[in-house]
Amino acid sequence: MKELELYCIMCPASCTLRVIVKDREIQVYGNQCPRGVEYAKQEVLEPRRHVMSVVRVKNGDMPTVSVVTRSPVPKDCIWRIMEQLAKIELEAPVEIGDVVIRDICGTDIIATRRVKRIELL
Ligand code: SF4
Repeated sequence: MKELELYCIMCPASCTLRVIVKDREIQVYGNQCPRGVEYAKQEVLEPRRHVMSVVRVKNGDMPTVSVVTRSPVPKDCIWRIMEQLAKIELEAPVEIGDVVIRDICGTDIIATRRVKRIELL
């Protein structure tokens, strides 16, 4: 049996959750609504995070563009995504929402800002 304390991040109330884990059975205390239970289960059984990073851009008015996962990914996938992002160089222009990597760890990586193309003389 394991006991954890988590802070629910699903709303600004930020409830302190006491979580008791026994095998794969999870009891949650301190939540003010059912979303706290779902959050605690997800966090204990398969924690997920958004991944934010930057990718190099060729011929752009900025040398890089910021990117993010469209949805949270399992924490185990974070380094795989970072390795793939490090290998990429986009060609400007890049628009907000452009897919940088499709279907990795169950989501896409998308650009979160615009990079205009600069015309080379
Ligand atoms: S348990 Fe419910 S009320 Fe508390 S922080 Fe989470 S979502 Fe908000």
